[in-house]
Amino acid sequence: MFDFNEDEVERYSRHILLQEVGVEGQAKLRESSVLVVGAGGLGSPVAYYLVAAGVGKIGIVDFDEVDLSNLQRQILHSTDDVGRAKTDSAKETLEALNPNVEIITYNQRLGTDNVEDLVSQYDIVIDGVDNFAARYLVNDACVFTNTPLVEGGILRFEGQVTLIDPEEGPCYRCVFPEPPKPGSIPSCQEAGVLGAIAGTIGTLQATEAIKYLLGIGESLIGRLVIYDALQLSFREVKIEQNSDCSLCGAKPEITELEEYTIHCSLQEND
Ligand SMILES: [Zn+2]
Repeated sequence: MFDFNEDEVERYSRHILLQEVGVEGQAKLRESSVLVVGAGGLGSPVAYYLVAAGVGKIGIVDFDEVDLSNLQRQILHSTDDVGRAKTDSAKETLEALNPNVEIITYNQRLGTDNVEDLVSQYDIVIDGVDNFAARYLVNDACVFTNTPLVEGGILRFEGQVTLIDPEEGPCYRCVFPEPPKPGSIPSCQEAGVLGAIAGTIGTLQATEAIKYLLGIGESLIGRLVIYDALQLSFREVKIEQNSDCSLCGAKPEITELEEYTIHCSLQEND
């Protein structure tokens, strides 16, 4: 039944014990694929937990190299990895964790030319990008290709997370129609971020993706959860599809992908 070998049954035993998962759910995870955009602060815990969970295929996109200042939060990478491509370092770490998972890496910058093709090859996408240009690009590509997206962001002592399912609820632009003006929002480089916040938000993103793939629990569609680490509080904001949304509204103005190069210098958070 579901042909898991002995090692796999043991590896996933704590999942299989869960009534909501079981062998069937574990088999579902093995048949599933997730694209993780960014192998940074959020992408690290996301990829770790999805690979540990036995999701069959994980894609990782990143064009950057590991920098010493990344290691405070980007836990996929080690001191010896400084200077290496993040995709190479991530693949090595993740394959050591679980050799049953297929890790596909894309050492490339996301752009209007490749993003739709990439996201449409996966069941769900997780956003762990570090700038608004990429955030809007990924949102728009997911809406155009009807691909669900777990959105997450962190800055200073705060983080937020939501699930965007273009067939069922609001997109990122329904809530934040346009990228902020350059300089209007401080970046991690300027404002800093507590490294462990990436762990909290990334872990929530991984959990929501697993719930979505298994079809269990209450989804985060239409809910934006905001985490304040200094208060240790979670706040939830209801978000609704905006019929005037320039992307997914009744009369969309955006009908093809746009590149926001002007915002690329504005490092937001990752
Ligand atoms: Zn929208």
